[in-house]
Amino acid sequence: MSARRILLVGPPGVGKGTQAERLASRLGIPKISTGDMLRAAVAAGSALGERARELIESGELVSDEIVIGIAQARLSEPDARLGFVLDGFPRTPAQAEALDGYLAGAGTPLERCLVLEAPEAELVERLLKRAQIEGRADDNEATIRRRMQVYRDQTAPLLAHYRGGSIVAEIDADSTIDEVEKRIDEALS
Ligand code: AMP
Repeated sequence: MSARRILLVGPPGVGKGTQAERLASRLGIPKISTGDMLRAAVAAGSALGERARELIESGELVSDEIVIGIAQARLSEPDARLGFVLDGFPRTPAQAEALDGYLAGAGTPLERCLVLEAPEAELVERLLKRAQIEGRADDNEATIRRRMQVYRDQTAPLLAHYRGGSIVAEIDADSTIDEVEKRIDEALS
C-alpha cells in the first residue's frame, strides 16, 4: 500500500469518517475532516463557528471560501507532509479545483480517490440510528434528506473531475465496517 495522499468521497452516513479514521491510523498519517474542524469551531464558539453553525444544522454547505481556507491551513501543517486522508473535503467542484491547485503547487498531487457507495435508504436508516446514539445536531430526518440532496447536487459532480484521471476506485460500502475496511485496503494495494 503505497498511496499516502488519499481522498474519501461518499454520501452522508456511508462511513467515510470511520473508515478515514481507521485508514489514517493504519498509515500513521492525519485524517483531515473539514466537518470535524467546523464542529470544533462551533463548540468553541469562535467567529467561524458562528458563521457555520446554522448551515451545518440545516444540512447546507459552508462557503467554498471558508472551507478551502481551513483545509489549506491544515494541509500546510508539518504532519500532513507525509500524507493525509481527506474526509468530507473537497465537496464541490470549486473546492476540488482549489485543492488540486494547492497540491500541484506543492508537488504532491492526490494519489487515490476512493468513492464509497451504498443505497440511500440504507444510509438514511444508519443516520437515524446514529442520531439516537451520538445526538449530532444535523442527524434529524429533514436535515438528513437535505444533506443527501446536497450530496447529489453539489458533491457528486466533483467525481467527474477526478474520473478523468486514473486515481478513482469505487467501493461497495453496503457492508460491515471491517469488510469495507478490507475492500479499501484491496483498492489501495
Ligand atoms: P461532515 O461531518 O463531513 O458530514 O460535515 C458536516 C457539515 O459540515 C456539512 O453538512 C456541511 O454543513 C459542513 N461541511 C463539512 N465539510 C464541508 C465542505 N468541504 N464544504 C462545505 N461544507 C462542509
